[in-house]
Amino acid sequence: MTIQHARGRRRASGPATEPRLPEAFSADRPRDAQREARRRRGPFRQVADFAAASGVGQKAGVALAATGLLLTVTVPATSPVMATGEQGSTSASLASPAQPKVSAEAAAKVDFSRTAVSTQGDPDGKLKQLLSAQSAGSVSRQASTGSLGSPLETLVKSSPFGYRVSPITGGAGEFHRGQDFAAQCGTSVLAAASGKVTFAGWHPYGGGNRVVINHGNGLETTYNHLSSSSVQVGQKVNRGDVVALSGTTGASTGCHLHFEVMVNGEVVDPAVWL
Ligand SMILES: [Zn+2]
Repeated sequence: MTIQHARGRRRASGPATEPRLPEAFSADRPRDAQREARRRRGPFRQVADFAAASGVGQKAGVALAATGLLLTVTVPATSPVMATGEQGSTSASLASPAQPKVSAEAAAKVDFSRTAVSTQGDPDGKLKQLLSAQSAGSVSRQASTGSLGSPLETLVKSSPFGYRVSPITGGAGEFHRGQDFAAQCGTSVLAAASGKVTFAGWHPYGGGNRVVINHGNGLETTYNHLSSSSVQVGQKVNRGDVVALSGTTGASTGCHLHFEVMVNGEVVDPAVWL
């Protein structure tokens, strides 16, 4: 009984809708994180399983002793089923996909709840608080981290901010003004925070179709290489609103989102704000 309860609850606590978010935040090293979780969980679960299995054995023994021959037919008929079922899942958990799935769901819960804290109620609260107290330029890296929302539902980092070899010219020392995220063309692009659209159109310097949102106090975000945009200059947007669809317009070698964060007109590493 203990076993069935525990496993039932674990299954129920991992709704199918959750795992998308954690992917977004652990996109860098999803496998390592899961392996770590699995390693930590493995022995613990085995102990729990063993304890539970022992409990079943004891109960069966007690039942046998108390009720005598009549139940020797009934109890062994149920307990071997539980015992073999549990043994099966224990040994299978070391090799089969069953165990990684459980640990992924557990990790999913951790990330999800952390996200929920910053996005429930007023999702812009932290950013507004930061920017009301000071210009974006004087916000510390520590304070700014996590204050912008994800520009895509699932963030898979590709080319980072900073100097790199140009994917267009092959030349070294090109300064990459934003963070690239892998995204199929046509993926919804989301406003990283509330603000006002200050540009929506063709960027003459390689950005292709581009949207710029001003969040106030010197903070702007830009979204580039879009296949289309659904906002107009002057429009107010809220964090998480779909402002465009990703694409590969302008100086781009394939479908992706080039995301920029600007502080007082200068690009900064988006990783500092996401
Ligand atoms: Zn880029």
